[in-house]
Amino acid sequence: MSSGADEFSFFEVVQGYMEEAAELTGLPAHVRRILAEPKNELIVHFPVRMDGGETRLFKGYRIQHNNVMGPYKGGMRYHEQVSLNELKALATQMTWKCALLGVPFGGGKGGVKFNPREHSHEELQRITRRFTHALGSNIGPSHDIPAPDMGTNAQTMVWMMDTYINTGPTYEKNDHRAVVTGKTINAGGSEGREAATGQGVVHCIKEWAREARFDLEGATAIVQGFGNVGSNTALLLSKLGVSTIATGDHTGYHRNDEGFNAHKLQDYVRVNGSIDGYPRGDKITRDEFFETKADLFIPAALQNQVGEKEAVRLDVRLIAEGANGPINPAGGAVLADRGIPVIPDILANSGGVTVSYYEWVQNRNSEHWDAEEVQRRLLHMMRRAYQRTMFYAAEKKVNARIAAYALALESLATSYEERGIFP
Ligand code: NAD
Repeated sequence: MSSGADEFSFFEVVQGYMEEAAELTGLPAHVRRILAEPKNELIVHFPVRMDGGETRLFKGYRIQHNNVMGPYKGGMRYHEQVSLNELKALATQMTWKCALLGVPFGGGKGGVKFNPREHSHEELQRITRRFTHALGSNIGPSHDIPAPDMGTNAQTMVWMMDTYINTGPTYEKNDHRAVVTGKTINAGGSEGREAATGQGVVHCIKEWAREARFDLEGATAIVQGFGNVGSNTALLLSKLGVSTIATGDHTGYHRNDEGFNAHKLQDYVRVNGSIDGYPRGDKITRDEFFETKADLFIPAALQNQVGEKEAVRLDVRLIAEGANGPINPAGGAVLADRGIPVIPDILANSGGVTVSYYEWVQNRNSEHWDAEEVQRRLLHMMRRAYQRTMFYAAEKKVNARIAAYALALESLATSYEERGIFP
């Protein structure tokens, strides 16, 4: 099935936004030059034995964009389209996201180029462990801290942690739990991490609704992607009285004018791996999905899903980017002309890295915060970031994406100004 809009180099798109924000903030030329490229780009090839006895070679990546604010931080993606260009863009966005939120981490991203759906649980475990081993000391709790992303989950993180711990010194085992975040609670994960990205998206939507004096009770949403981010956003929206009336994933799109039961659909996807075959709802095309009239649109799948063609069709009041980079510049220009506001990815989906930070702090201090504590802190951070971004956008008369980038760049520029360039 079609997975995207037009051809775009994701890394060039992200660099373009950076250039625009750099002009606005008067970013010093040397800082601009440093931030334009990742610090490190690691590519590894590693063999894994398949269940049938044959051996396959896999290609894995870890991109470390910047660590001036703290250790590199970002997800690990398992997807057949993973590429150096995509991961460079995603790693760069992590630097901006952490700087915008005030989370003391830098930006990183990695992944393995393969389709995890084609592999057994045992094969996934062996792929994850060999990949972690191949990365070796290029990751670490004070250096570079992976997290879940597309195609990976809490189980993947526990395998990574276990492999890292077991290949390191015995006396450091406990400290090394913080090498990854997004783990199961049992393995040292944080309360609230699994739904944190969706929760952050919903906090942003609530802030928008309050300012726009829009009543979310009885509102409708369309959600692209029903994995971690899409399903948790739909579920949390349903608690506010918002019905998800259309959704879709890599297998196709479905519509239900009564609204999907987000709980049941999430359970169905957990068991079956996709929304395909879900009995309540009618199949629609990708084009029909983008034409579905609704109040909110939450893209929560891949980058580059909304180009000009999709942006013309969308009939919504607000877009909150759960995914990273779902709208390409051509799509963004159409949405701007049509006056449809967009809460940009580095703000809207930053709840995930924020709670990852809480997990890391809890691991390092041997603490366990209760769910209320995590939620209280997350709400505070999201609200503050949202307000700062929208205030800046209004003051400088720029869109929210450029405002978010500019705020991130200002904070990075201050760090470079204070620290200077070594030697
Ligand atoms: P996931 O693997 O749990 O879910 C991905 C969803 O996208 C699935 O429903 C999948 O079927 C769908 N999808 C894949 N290819 C598609 C296609 N061609 N067309 C339509 N749908 C397709 O991944 P996730 O963790 O929910 O991540 C989704 C997005 O959110 C990614 O862009 C990711 O970078 C971003 N994100 C995730 C987190 C997190 O905490 N997991 C945090 C911030 C941002």
